[in-house]
Amino acid sequence: MSEPDGLPSGGRIGGGRGVPRSRSSLVIAIDGPVGAGKSTMARRLAETLRCVYVDSGAMYRALGWKAVRDGVDLTDHACLAALGAATDIRILPGPAGPRVLVDGIDVTDALRTPEIDQAASLVSTCAAVRERLVALQRSMAARAGVVMDGRDIGTVVFPDADLKFFLDADLSVRAERRRRDLERSGAPTTHAAVQEEVARRDARDRTREASPLIPAADAIRIDSTSLPADEVVRRMLAEVARLLEQDNS
Ligand code: C5P
Repeated sequence: MSEPDGLPSGGRIGGGRGVPRSRSSLVIAIDGPVGAGKSTMARRLAETLRCVYVDSGAMYRALGWKAVRDGVDLTDHACLAALGAATDIRILPGPAGPRVLVDGIDVTDALRTPEIDQAASLVSTCAAVRERLVALQRSMAARAGVVMDGRDIGTVVFPDADLKFFLDADLSVRAERRRRDLERSGAPTTHAAVQEEVARRDARDRTREASPLIPAADAIRIDSTSLPADEVVRRMLAEVARLLEQDNS
């Protein structure tokens, strides 16, 4: 059986969750460094498959936002752990996309600044914070299919995900994407400055002790350096179709 876009609608029991695997029940992990195109692809995939899209980075940003607001030392892991334990983070659907609430305050529009980029990056090195946010991330896939993007989704959050992608691209291309995002959100800066900042965040993510950014052994790797977004989505949907065909055969 096929859906209008040509993808099979589903097949046998799969994903280890004891229910028939279908396109909207899939758990899909998308990991990769800054600017690899994860959120764009995750959003488009979720839309096509009618799954929930979860931006796990927004949760680290939310806690980073609160740490900055409260003047918490971003290198003090005991303080960060206490902050994480005392903070209620929610992601709720909104007409123009998901809204992020910290202790009931809608902080969505404050999360994409260079200051919060750095704060989220530092907060995410704290193992206790990660433990808490991973539990929240897992709870979001308990009832429905999900496409989640981040750094450790295929390795830690959902090691049994139905599909795992690791997206990457050359540093200069990723920095340029990030620079354009910042320009659009009213924070123009230079390519060189963004590239330095992106390289610093990547290095921290890759070398931290807690859940470092590494591709899962079974992740499908896609390099988007010279691929248009449509082509990346097409390749991902082809993998989804292949998976569901396998179930049907
Ligand atoms: O994806 P995004 O850039 O919004 O994430 C912000 C920061 O949160 C990243 O730089 C990374 O350090 C951290 N992060 C993480 N694990 C995730 C998602 C994000 O460590 N699953």
